[in-house]
Amino acid sequence: MRQEPPAVPITFPVPFMVKSMNLYLFPAEPLTLLDTGPKTPPARQAIRKTLETRGYGYRDLKRIIITHGHVDHFGLARELAQASGAAIYIHPYDAYKLLHGYSFIREKLPLLREAGVPDERLKELEGWCINADKLFDPLDEVHPLQENEQISFDSFSLKIIHCPGHSQGHICLYDEERKELYGGDHILKHITPNPAIEPSPSAPEKRSHSLVQYLDSLQKIDRLNPSCIFPAHGPVIDSPRKRIKDIQRHHLRRKERLQGLLNGRGSTAYDLGQKLFGIPKEMDIFLIVSEVLAHLDLLLKEEKAVALAKNGVIYYSTP
Ligand SMILES: [Zn+2]
Ligand SMILES: [Zn+2]
Repeated sequence: MRQEPPAVPITFPVPFMVKSMNLYLFPAEPLTLLDTGPKTPPARQAIRKTLETRGYGYRDLKRIIITHGHVDHFGLARELAQASGAAIYIHPYDAYKLLHGYSFIREKLPLLREAGVPDERLKELEGWCINADKLFDPLDEVHPLQENEQISFDSFSLKIIHCPGHSQGHICLYDEERKELYGGDHILKHITPNPAIEPSPSAPEKRSHSLVQYLDSLQKIDRLNPSCIFPAHGPVIDSPRKRIKDIQRHHLRRKERLQGLLNGRGSTAYDLGQKLFGIPKEMDIFLIVSEVLAHLDLLLKEEKAVALAKNGVIYYSTP
């Protein structure tokens, strides 16, 4: 029989497409929280209540680990750190997303223009992002977490597994003894995480190939062969191998559908996105363009598509 996991899940609703969020509290020494939720009343109440039922308060938190730099995962970090003095840890590739001066949309605008998104749709997306920015307070300082580093507790430890794809600095935490993975957004039960387009950490003038990376990161977890995954959204995954296979199949099918839409004349990623998913609104504009570009990267790699830049916009066609 499986031992009880060392973490207590904290689940509450969030105002995003994923609808709900799971944080994990490790009631061990030092008291550690994995992700914080956005800066919303349900997140605050859920954290406070879980701490209180265990005899703790905000002030007792010693360490906050963030799986990746998306607002649903770190929005409350500043508030919690200020109340407790807890140190905040994140992979260096996502560290800047938590600090002052970061704008999610600003760094994506050149990539979205290149993908053929019209100016009025970019304005709509910018409006949505300005509202989402209200769901976090930027931090002054974060501490880096490196691949294979051990997060030590009094009676167990968790290993950092860098899984770029959904975000360049996404990490999972692995309990090697129990064979349990705290998976963040990397592997979810009912949805696939968006292969979000971002500037490449090593060459910011280029776009990272997020789905190529994501599929590699999936294999990395498959090789670990965890017995279960505790995700940041939705139910626990009891058959990780099966879920990984399903996700691989999903991306293969989507890539083939996209290939079928290519012609000899050339289309932008935005046009192809509308053909696949319909006319997107607000944040979906970014998510859909990311999905399409990420799958186009696979087709380009396999030489099943070619890309041609014209006046700063990239057109994709059959070879
Ligand atoms: Zn995310
Ligand atoms: Zn998330």
